[in-house]
Amino acid sequence: MSQAISNPAVSPPGADKTILRAAAVQKFYRSGEETLSILRGVDLNVRTGEFIAIEGRSGSGKSTLLHILAGLDSPNGGTVQFNGVNIVAISDRNLAKIRNREFGFVFQFYHLLPELNVLENTMLSPMIEFSTLGFRARAADLRKRAADLLNQLGLGHRLKHRSSQLSGGERQRVAIARALMNDPKVLFADEPTGNLDFETGRQIMAVLEDLHRRQGQTIIMVTHDRSLALKADRVLILRNGKLERPGGASDTEKVPAPEED
Ligand code: ADP
Ligand code: MG
Repeated sequence: MSQAISNPAVSPPGADKTILRAAAVQKFYRSGEETLSILRGVDLNVRTGEFIAIEGRSGSGKSTLLHILAGLDSPNGGTVQFNGVNIVAISDRNLAKIRNREFGFVFQFYHLLPELNVLENTMLSPMIEFSTLGFRARAADLRKRAADLLNQLGLGHRLKHRSSQLSGGERQRVAIARALMNDPKVLFADEPTGNLDFETGRQIMAVLEDLHRRQGQTIIMVTHDRSLALKADRVLILRNGKLERPGGASDTEKVPAPEED
């Protein structure tokens, strides 16, 4: 926040509704003598309520970038500001708080625990975050929240089923419910339909579009599939370690995104 005040050229956080801002993000992997440069200076501005798709080929660094934006991985250079706080530079403890309270993440392979039922899987994050006693004190509210979300996602009749008994599309709905438990400011989705057949994938996309349109959910999705990317408000291409607009220009502030209506 002080960074914004000390630099009059930068508007204060929130003034332009920017919720997430990445600047000059770099990531490389070293293996022996070689350095594999995956992200070579990624800039991205995400506004509250936007649905952004990042499209790129397999291996282009989409998952790496999404993990860095969501604080699940750290970059070798650059900054990622969430509401004006550079999450790259804060303590693990504070980062964990932001991840738990402000972000939701949906993975391609669901990452559910097969031995837990649908309701328990949905409540996984608060079950981990709070101590047993802390969880017990909140259990009734959390159960209600989880059941409401699962109902909305069409899984109200499966609450007590183990996740291993569900189809792929149902599993991804549980994963979406789990990601929405904390009413996240930003929902990250990594190829959320990548493991599903066409029709089931279409239904999962419809869930995301609905969340965005009806509830104003901010979403950042990565995909290798152009037809899925086109469901978003704005498409960016990850190519050669940088984000480009489909026309080729980079995602800088010089070209502002369209105003929300
Ligand atoms: P995408 O999601 O676009 O398919 P990834 O972000 O998963 O791409 O990976 C980008 C590149 O980085 C790939 O070439 C991958 O092999 C490499 N990579 C990812 N993680 C590691 C790692 N931990 N060590 C070395 N290379 C990695
Ligand atoms: Mg990936």
